[in-house]
Amino acid sequence: MEAKILDGKKTAQELREELRQEVQTLKEKHNLTPGLAVVLVGEHPASVSYVTGKRRACEKAGIYSREENHPETLSEKKLLSLIDELNGDPKIHGILVQLPLPDHIDEKKVLHAIHPDKDVDGLHPFNVGQMMIGEDTFLPCTPHGIQQLLIRNNIPIESRHIVIVGRSNLVGKPLAAMLLQKQKNANATVTVCHTGTKDIGQYTKQADILIAAAGRPNTVTADMVSDGAVIVDVGVNRIEDASRKKGYRLVGDVDFEAIRQKAAAITPVPGGVGPMTITMLLYNTVKSAKNSISH
Ligand code: NAP
Repeated sequence: MEAKILDGKKTAQELREELRQEVQTLKEKHNLTPGLAVVLVGEHPASVSYVTGKRRACEKAGIYSREENHPETLSEKKLLSLIDELNGDPKIHGILVQLPLPDHIDEKKVLHAIHPDKDVDGLHPFNVGQMMIGEDTFLPCTPHGIQQLLIRNNIPIESRHIVIVGRSNLVGKPLAAMLLQKQKNANATVTVCHTGTKDIGQYTKQADILIAAAGRPNTVTADMVSDGAVIVDVGVNRIEDASRKKGYRLVGDVDFEAIRQKAAAITPVPGGVGPMTITMLLYNTVKSAKNSISH
């Protein structure tokens, strides 16, 4: 039987509609418009397209977005003073600095300068710590999007064995921390594989839910997957394709065509995890605006 396609676009759309209504209520009842500042340094093509996508998503949800586009040559000092200004701006509830930053800027210093109350990417160590101990906080967008995609497609997480390939601070590690919390929609048994893992297949074959976040095409092949597993492909990789206008196409980390013949469900690339990631950024911005009422 062919796998069900976990349509991230559709799930994201449903969530965005809920957020749009919530934003409307905040405007009507509290005269409050959630605001997101997106900071872009340089003109990295992928970053420019991510930032454009975020702006459009904000507009559609009724969220105010402030774009801060700066040349590659922007100094670290100027960037830090911009963050400082945004931290103090009451119209801004979330600050997102598009990564990667140019080499002369210390990424860590910049991310740590964002006030934890406006850290809608969930990458500030304070929020990472809160997440780790299961406290309510801004959850990082990609892992949170994956969790929501599973929940909203009625895929049980509790007591499942979830195998994650990848341990980055952006995806693998926070995802593992979130899914193993003793909480509803978590409480899974989590195994994390990485380049130091011997014979990854022996672990991936045990997965009820397999999440690939390695950033390499074909990291997971059909022989590494058990019949009936749920597959979430986080990878976004460009591979040459002369038949496409751009000269490339996007693929994930798993061998989609072969694995869809044996999996119960699988996310496509694109159209799986990606749309959920942007949606959770909107979610965190709305959450931050709501927090500002009670503070
Ligand atoms: P990353 O920082 O490069 O981390 C990749 C992780 O995968 C590392 O932990 C690495 O292990 C592990 N890995 C790499 N090759 C492996 C292999 N052959 N076997 C086992 N483990 C392997 O990447 P990332 O930021 O986590 O992103 C991962 C992928 O997801 C990328 O393709 C990225 O573009 C995509 N992504 C998509 C979204 C979205 O919204 N769709 C969001 C974020 C990221 P070591 O630690 O041992 O090096």
